Amino acid sequence: MKDRINRRDCLRMFGYSGLATGLSGIASNQLFAQNIGESSGFQSSVIAASKIETHRTNAVLVNGQVIQPQCQLPILDKTDVLVVGGGPAGTVAAIAAKRAGANVILVERYGHFGGLWTGGLVLLILGHIVTGGKQVCQGIGEEIMHRLDTMDGAIINRKPGINPTVDAEAVKYLMVEMIEEAGIQVYLHCWGVDAIMDDQNVRGAVFESKSGRQAILADVVVDATGDGDVFAAAGAEFEHRSHNIGLVSRIGNLDRVNPQKTPEGQKPRRLGNSTPVAGVNWVNLTGPEVDGLDLATLTRMEMNHRKFIWNNMQKTRSIPGYEKVYLMETAPQLGVRITRVLNGLNTIRLEDLKAGTKFPDVVGVGGASNAEHGEWQIPYGALVPRKVDHVLATGRCVSTDIRMADLVRLIPNCFVTGHAAGVAAAVAVQDQCPPRNADVIKIQRILKQQDAYLG
Ligand SMILES: Cc1cc2nc3c(=O)[nH]c(=O)nc-3n(C[C@H](O)[C@H](O)[C@H](O)COP(=O)(O)OP(=O)(O)OC[C@H]3O[C@@H](n4cnc5c(N)ncnc54)[C@H](O)[C@@H]3O)c2cc1C
Repeated sequence: MKDRINRRDCLRMFGYSGLATGLSGIASNQLFAQNIGESSGFQSSVIAASKIETHRTNAVLVNGQVIQPQCQLPILDKTDVLVVGGGPAGTVAAIAAKRAGANVILVERYGHFGGLWTGGLVLLILGHIVTGGKQVCQGIGEEIMHRLDTMDGAIINRKPGINPTVDAEAVKYLMVEMIEEAGIQVYLHCWGVDAIMDDQNVRGAVFESKSGRQAILADVVVDATGDGDVFAAAGAEFEHRSHNIGLVSRIGNLDRVNPQKTPEGQKPRRLGNSTPVAGVNWVNLTGPEVDGLDLATLTRMEMNHRKFIWNNMQKTRSIPGYEKVYLMETAPQLGVRITRVLNGLNTIRLEDLKAGTKFPDVVGVGGASNAEHGEWQIPYGALVPRKVDHVLATGRCVSTDIRMADLVRLIPNCFVTGHAAGVAAAVAVQDQCPPRNADVIKIQRILKQQDAYLG
């Protein structure tokens, strides 16, 4: 069988041969570019003419029950530090661990980095400031912000005491750049589904991808999934919480609202919050309080929110003056705020924020969404599970009481716990000890060398 098609075949397939003859004077590339979109230069080859994936061990139906038989998994890779989840916390953790001297693998279920920050279109960076407008998120998180400053159209409102807003594509680009610069091994499109256990110790994780089920072995795993997928699989204790699940969207053409026609006159209503793109705002959606670990709920939220956002936009467009405003996109990633929260050796508590508690094992300092709170310290114990070892939590699933969770999960605070988890994991690897026994003084010293602020 002929396994390559040329441009003429391609035209015939798409029924464009007459058109091509008639337009023979036009350069063919131009023709394709103008008329058939991406159809120029296709190439496809047969990799194997007849293939059966024999390494699969299927689930089997036994007496009406589905049984997953035991099987040996291919080992995809081995490393010192394995970071699962490439959101704000995971990306920073991976860079920090690598800079601290560890070999690092970063695995992400989607095709880009940034987690809710990019895929969830959560563009506003809240929570890096405290009373007086002082910025407490420093280190790699601030380095990311600073690099966004230097990029065209990447960030706005970068002034002391103010919360900046980013462009998601700029962040996705920058994260690739920083991860490549650091020399981190990456696997995208790879979903962490299990922990590899040796007694109470995590020795790696199992992943599902288009290549099948594979294992990555590691000395320390950093769980940056936001939902504690790895520590839960390892049997670590956690609190299962519900929270509001929303869906962020972006709307365009706000610069084409006609104030001559709007009911509000010269001051049209505010629709969402501005972004680095002129005329484009991002719109938050709180959504109902539900369980973000429940498949049926997640499915319902995706469908209901998309219908709601579309219909809401149609209402807006029916208001005089707003006819040109349109829905650019709904976020590809649902806005799940909190699900599993680690029950750690220590916990970030509201009482400690109020009392200004200083922890001897401080590995970071958190801020708030406005300058009304003082700074609050993050103890290393909030990242460490009570029993299971060789795994650290970071980001929105670290150990925190329910009253602090809405501060702990803010993006800059996730940078901070990511930074701490990455350095701690590297120190544990270097000193060949479980992370719970890692030398906190050494972790603090390296964090400071990497420009982190510890109070
Ligand atoms: C609707 C909404 C509005 C918000 N508004 C703001 C705001 O205005 N300002 C602010 O600062 N914060 C805001 N937040 C909070 C903030 O966006 C998140 O808490 C923050 O992004 C959490 O970072 P993270 O790295 O811990 O997790 P995430 O951002 O969730 O990243 C986790 C990453 O892990 C990946 N992953 C998950 N499971 C697996 C798995 N099993 N295997 C492999 N990869 C996996 C995910 O794809 C993702 O990339 C908001 C959150 C929501 C939902």
